[in-house]
Amino acid sequence: MTNDESEPDSVPASREPPPRALTRVSPMVRRVVAPNASPFTFNGTCTYIVGEANVAIVDPGPDDDSHLSALLAAVDGERVETILISHTHRDHSVGANKLRAATGARVIGAAPFTPRSDGSAGLDSAHDRDYSPDAILADSERWQGAGYTIEAVATPGHCSNHLCFALLEEGALFSGDHVMAWSTSVIAPPDGSMGAYMDSLDKLRGRAERIYWPGHGGPVVEPQRYLRALIHHRRQRAASILNALADGPQTIPALVAKVYVGLSPSLTHAAGLSTLAHLEDLSERGVVVGEAADGGEQRFRLA
Ligand SMILES: [Zn+2]
Repeated sequence: MTNDESEPDSVPASREPPPRALTRVSPMVRRVVAPNASPFTFNGTCTYIVGEANVAIVDPGPDDDSHLSALLAAVDGERVETILISHTHRDHSVGANKLRAATGARVIGAAPFTPRSDGSAGLDSAHDRDYSPDAILADSERWQGAGYTIEAVATPGHCSNHLCFALLEEGALFSGDHVMAWSTSVIAPPDGSMGAYMDSLDKLRGRAERIYWPGHGGPVVEPQRYLRALIHHRRQRAASILNALADGPQTIPALVAKVYVGLSPSLTHAAGLSTLAHLEDLSERGVVVGEAADGGEQRFRLA
């Protein structure tokens, strides 16, 4: 799941939908876009094929037979050694089981989803409960393919098990739903965490990749500049929330109405989750306090 309520301004990133058909995007990377377009997935999940002859496939996408057929046709005559999974949102990982059955590849990457026990659903229903990796990659773990090297970069925030994958030979990063050019990421508690997300943006600021290949939409071509813009955007949003709370205690719907002026109704729920993620982060930092209001709805006030 992706998409937030708005995008950072003035950022150097392409927001054109990438072509669905098999496209070579770099000397070592090909891309096929799955047919699962939605307000949360842009024109579909990007599946990447890495290497030649003995290849890895990054994020096989949803359970869709036409997408599986397109992937198998794209690698006709080649051997799929490995299927890499960035995170277990259903639009990224569900296709892994059929692709593994069809190719004999092993599935490695993100840890299986573990539901939180605090009773809040968030976007947990978006997670793939049938995901069963053959191995889980730890942060900084490297994996050597045939002519390419992948390094896992733990990037929790969008969800707790999110990994990016660096392709060392090309100075490229498969950025999953952590950093995308077309939209900011949804950070939906309880599995999503704004504090972790900001830390994970910061982590990428310390890396040298020159291009990102996201899970949805086209590449991020000036990632360091874009990361700065994303961090600025979230800090501005937190400041707007604090500003609104200066008027007194507020419910999340009231905050969304004040902070997200002109928001499309279809994104109100996502904006509410994003606002909750900010409020959680601000609470952890001791700036905001949540309290039960009449009728059971939670209100938030400045600490
Ligand atoms: Zn996702």
